[in-house]
Amino acid sequence: MQVVNVIGAGLAGSEAAWQLANRGVQVRLYEMRPVKQTPAHHTDQFAELVCSNSLRANQLTNAVGILKEEMRKLDSLIIRAADACAVPAGGALAVDRHEFSANVTKALKEHPNITVLNEEVTMIPTEGITIIATGPLTSEALTEQIQTLTGETDLYFYDAAAPIVTKESLDMDKVYLKSRYDKGEAAYLNCAMTKEEFDRFHEALIEAEVAPMKDFEKNLFFEACMPVEVLAKRGEKTLLFGPMKPVGLEDPKTGETPYAVVQLRQDDGAGTLYNIVGFQTQLKWGEQKKVLSLIPGLENVDIVRYGVMHRNTFMNAPKILTPTYQMRQHPNLFFAGQMTGVEGYVESAASGLVAGMNAARLAQGELLYRMPDETAIGSLARYITEANPDNFQPMNVNFGLFPPLEKRIRSKAERAEKYAERALASMDEFVTTLNQ
Ligand code: FAD
Repeated sequence: MQVVNVIGAGLAGSEAAWQLANRGVQVRLYEMRPVKQTPAHHTDQFAELVCSNSLRANQLTNAVGILKEEMRKLDSLIIRAADACAVPAGGALAVDRHEFSANVTKALKEHPNITVLNEEVTMIPTEGITIIATGPLTSEALTEQIQTLTGETDLYFYDAAAPIVTKESLDMDKVYLKSRYDKGEAAYLNCAMTKEEFDRFHEALIEAEVAPMKDFEKNLFFEACMPVEVLAKRGEKTLLFGPMKPVGLEDPKTGETPYAVVQLRQDDGAGTLYNIVGFQTQLKWGEQKKVLSLIPGLENVDIVRYGVMHRNTFMNAPKILTPTYQMRQHPNLFFAGQMTGVEGYVESAASGLVAGMNAARLAQGELLYRMPDETAIGSLARYITEANPDNFQPMNVNFGLFPPLEKRIRSKAERAEKYAERALASMDEFVTTLNQ
């Protein structure tokens, strides 16, 4: 029987090890803490929650609630431990962080198929099957190895993301499709602003509150990816010559060049999601919503992924990975967790679940599974492997990733209900296949 290596016992690695071990596969689980700490972890426990103690919404009206329910159906250790250590948090699943990590650590350390090794892995194993799940703060030596394997330009060290919004929430009567100077196919959605609209927006942007940075993140910015609010504070002309430059973007309704333009670029293959070009930001999430709603056409915008700027090691997954979380060029090597471009505790664990399940199937000579697209787990895998590789940014699970429903439903609540129904029915069917 093959032994599978799992490197990193965070959210993803812990889940992957559990899925492997429960399928009868022997696991060597490597974790460098406490021998070597990351800048954000504080304990020697597995699946340490480095910041918030919330695993976000638990209800099926929310995509992350559906993701959790699917994971329960697949016997996720992370969700099982979270349910067991839950603290009151309204509609969210929040946990006692110490109890939660202790619960995960105990389950893995006591598992007869798991051997834990407390050491930093500095070389990627060349033999057998390996899952790398070393997270956004992967140690330096291993990062270099991964960089060599993936290619210099396809591994990133910080996340400077602009907000991503659903096309459905845009006011298409105000927004127009056009590329600058009509070069190539009309590819951008444009929001035109008058001087008055721009002044109001500019003022709100420079006054909005910024999220605090961790000490190890303070040297993150460089000129090419300045937060939009920092540009705005340099003076209004900086935006007008930068991300809000209007030249070559005449409004087809008036034939005139607007005073300023905000451009949105398609973000997913299906064309349901758009990112706001050049709007990487560190504003607090509530402030982002307030400021963006001042852009004509974005008054009721639904933001599925808020802008962030933080330290994060992640790869250009659409170029590198398959939906089974295997490396295209080295099928014995799986990646899981935040480093694959999924974002968040639950998403990281979900990717570990898929990688663990499939690594076990590979070890046992069985066919590997791509999770159904209709499920939250499958939508996330599909997004990170099929998104536009030219401006790939990590992603939380959200309804914008799900394949559109057959019939258009106006009510948001009803739409969520239908997505949930379809996802869970599809997951039930998948679990039946898995158990046959
Ligand atoms: P991790 O949970 O970080 O696990 C990786 C593990 O690998 C660690 O235990 C590490 O010690 C180990 N490791 C690293 N290198 C090596 C090596 N060479 N050899 C052996 N072991 C190694 N998400 C949220 O949903 N909510 C939040 O509030 C939140 N806050 C965050 C705050 C910060 C500062 C950061 C950086 C991220 C945050 N995230 C948050 C994003 C993300 O969900 C978490 O980082 C999550 O822990 C990612 O899971 P993971 O399994 O990929 O990595």
